[in-house]
Parts: sequence; C-alpha cells; structure tokens
Amino acid sequence: MSTHDPFRRRFLVVAAMATAALPIALRLIPEARAAALAKLPLDNPQAKALGYVEDAGKATAAGYKPGSSCTNCQFFTAATGACALFAGFSVSPGGWCSAWSKKPA
Ligand code: SF4
Repeated sequence: MSTHDPFRRRFLVVAAMATAALPIALRLIPEARAAALAKLPLDNPQAKALGYVEDAGKATAAGYKPGSSCTNCQFFTAATGACALFAGFSVSPGGWCSAWSKKPA
C-alpha cells in the first residue's frame, strides 16, 4: 500500500485527532453531567429542613461532626455532584446536611 493513499492518510489523521481528543472528552463528560443538574437552592424546603449548608464548616446543627461533608457521605455521587436525597439537584462537595451518613470504605 502506498503512503500516498488518500483513504489511508485520512484514516490516520482522524485516528490521531480522536486519540488526542479522548483525554479531553473524558475529562469534560463528568463536568457536563454536573452542569446538567441544577445547584440545590438553599431555600429548598427539604434542604432547609435538613440544615443543608454549602460549606460544612458553617454547619450549626447539633449532629454535625467535624470532617463530615458531602464528599464522604454515602448519598453523594462525586462524578455528578448529585445527592440521592435531592433528586435533580447537585450539592456542594464541601456541603453538609443532617442526613449525612458515612460513605462505606
Ligand atoms: Fe450532602 Fe449527604 Fe446531605 Fe446529601 S445527604 S446533602 S450528600 S451530607
């Protein structure tokens, strides 16, 4: 096969571009998913009832344990920012609410 074969050249160019773009695409997919979820409003009735705060360090609830946050809560999905308790919303990774439950190791 000649190196001047236009089909082969096009294939190699497309393959090189796809290979170069793959790491970028993989990095953007979770961000795109997170962007698809609306940020949980602080005035959401359930959020208020559970004492949700975007910064765990500002939690004032009696049940707050230092070091606990959405990041290490079993209801949190890091890839999307979703919380199982707040369907359709994303929560802050550094947030906290009184439903916090330690993520299994
Ligand atoms: Fe964060 Fe867990 Fe409360 Fe959801 S249940 S808001 S992940 S602390």
